[in-house]
Amino acid sequence: MRALDVGIIGGGTAGSAAAVFLARAGHRVTLYERVSEPRPVGAGITIQPTGLHVLCRLELYPYIVSRGAHIDRLLCESVTRKRLVDLSYGTVGDDLFGVGLHRGVLFEALLAAVAREDITVRNGVEIVDLERTEHGGAPRASWFIDVNRQRHGPHELVVVADGARSQLRDDTGTSKRIAPYPWGALWFVGKDARDPDDASTRTLHQVVDGNQRFLGMLPTGHGPSRLLGSTLGPRLVSLFWSIRCDRVDAWRKRGLGPWKDELAKLAPESVPVLDQIESIDQVLFASYHDVVMHRWSTRNVVYLGDAAHATSPQLGQGCNLALWDAMVLADVLAGEERDLAVALDRYSRTRADHLAFYQFSTRMLTPFFQGDEPWLGTLRDLTMPLMGKFPITNRIMTLSMLGVVDGFSGRMLQLRLPRKEA
Ligand SMILES: Cc1cc2nc3c(=O)[nH]c(=O)nc-3n(C[C@H](O)[C@H](O)[C@H](O)COP(=O)(O)OP(=O)(O)OC[C@H]3O[C@@H](n4cnc5c(N)ncnc54)[C@H](O)[C@@H]3O)c2cc1C
Repeated sequence: MRALDVGIIGGGTAGSAAAVFLARAGHRVTLYERVSEPRPVGAGITIQPTGLHVLCRLELYPYIVSRGAHIDRLLCESVTRKRLVDLSYGTVGDDLFGVGLHRGVLFEALLAAVAREDITVRNGVEIVDLERTEHGGAPRASWFIDVNRQRHGPHELVVVADGARSQLRDDTGTSKRIAPYPWGALWFVGKDARDPDDASTRTLHQVVDGNQRFLGMLPTGHGPSRLLGSTLGPRLVSLFWSIRCDRVDAWRKRGLGPWKDELAKLAPESVPVLDQIESIDQVLFASYHDVVMHRWSTRNVVYLGDAAHATSPQLGQGCNLALWDAMVLADVLAGEERDLAVALDRYSRTRADHLAFYQFSTRMLTPFFQGDEPWLGTLRDLTMPLMGKFPITNRIMTLSMLGVVDGFSGRMLQLRLPRKEA
């Protein structure tokens, strides 16, 4: 494909990664971000081996690994401390691990990578509409319309990466389904006072009681550095608590005391983190959406990341899928195809199996951990330990966690990762 004039809407994970890949491939890129002064905010995320593969290609791997926490294991226990899920990255490959990361670290690394490339960045511009300029029935380019009805562009290729609450998805002309999840999560980032040699600091640990009480603790490494300074701050840990979205106001009214007592009883190891919470305003709430689109491109427009396929964070794949999207888009455009619409259609087909697997699995799994039918929690407690015991099902669960399952055919994504340091 010849060099294109590309406009990207949204400077989050998908948009920034796509901007870097496409600029490096010689395209002229403009990145539109509605926030005037983007800052590294957010809680903990897990970068899976798939995400690490993409970060390698972006040359951001050393920075991310140095600031994040190596995660070797996912351990989910019941309130009675029965092991429900116990998956180790090392069972698939010695060099495999996840990285628990403050989301702000990924953000600042991508922001710095954007700044190093020849990319025009337009912060504080909220794009709300697209206007096509057609020629002989084929789109030549699209104007971007911002919230003040100003026009920007035009751009030949439109990359929509404006997140789960995308304002531009309605323009797709393809069938889609967007549903908010009834359950969300409270989260808090605190200092991790545990001994760094303790195996618990390399474990994503979850404690569940039925499917209505769910606490997670994810080690998240050293946090954002502000302008990529080399000094490492204290080690951090993200605490997550599942809550029904319509109960958040009642939770606030009840106050911190009863909530902290409840969590301390469920998981005493969370007390050193809970002790750091002094005000209810330190605890933030996140809700999530399930977004299903049947293809992710129309003519000269392509949808990446949460705008295209948001899920609940149950399998911890959102950022990883967004990074993989950006890489595949750049690879497809680097091919021989000269017709943009055909190339974007190829992008959709290339992503279909991987996304179908993770969207379906996450949607199926979520109500077993966060839901209104208690019997699903009971069923989970009976079946999951059994699945973990059989090597074949344990392996499928572990591969799913890694992010590499490329559809329901048994095909796996191939990763190229540096060897793990001793
Ligand atoms: C509680 C929680 C836990 C999670 N845990 C994990 C995890 O462990 N692992 C994982 O991989 N993922 C996790 N995720 C998901 C992950 O955060 C998302 O999948 C990922 O951030 C998606 O990236 P994105 O670029 O598509 O969207 P976003 O990161 O949401 O970025 C969208 C960007 O677009 C901008 N924007 C929005 N509208 C406009 C507009 N109209 N014009 C211009 N700019 C606009 C926004 O300001 C933002 O910068 C979690 C999510 C939640 C809520």
